[in-house]
Amino acid sequence: MNKERQEYYSAKLGALAAELREDLDKNLDGAKTVQLDTSIGRLSRMDAMQLQQMALELRRRQQNQMLRIENALKRLETGTFGVCARCGKSISKDRLDAQPDAIACVPCAEAR
Ligand SMILES: [Zn+2]
Repeated sequence: MNKERQEYYSAKLGALAAELREDLDKNLDGAKTVQLDTSIGRLSRMDAMQLQQMALELRRRQQNQMLRIENALKRLETGTFGVCARCGKSISKDRLDAQPDAIACVPCAEAR
């Protein structure tokens, strides 16, 4: 992969990380308020608990994605970015464009 492509993915991953960080900050408020406040207007306690579960689940997913992005940025630094972690072949450009944090090529990801 040439330097230009690496810089492109680096910028893209950086933008994704910034977006996620913002969402995580917002979501943190959501996950907290429900827990602290049990009388939330017309929402029943069950509804509130369900909402909180959803907020926590979303948060978990976002944290996982953040980890994947951080790992992808590390791989960019070490020069292993774009190399499939399973078979060692390069991951196609289309796949990296759609999902720059992908760690496996399409055949390997589908084989899982
Ligand atoms: Zn592979």
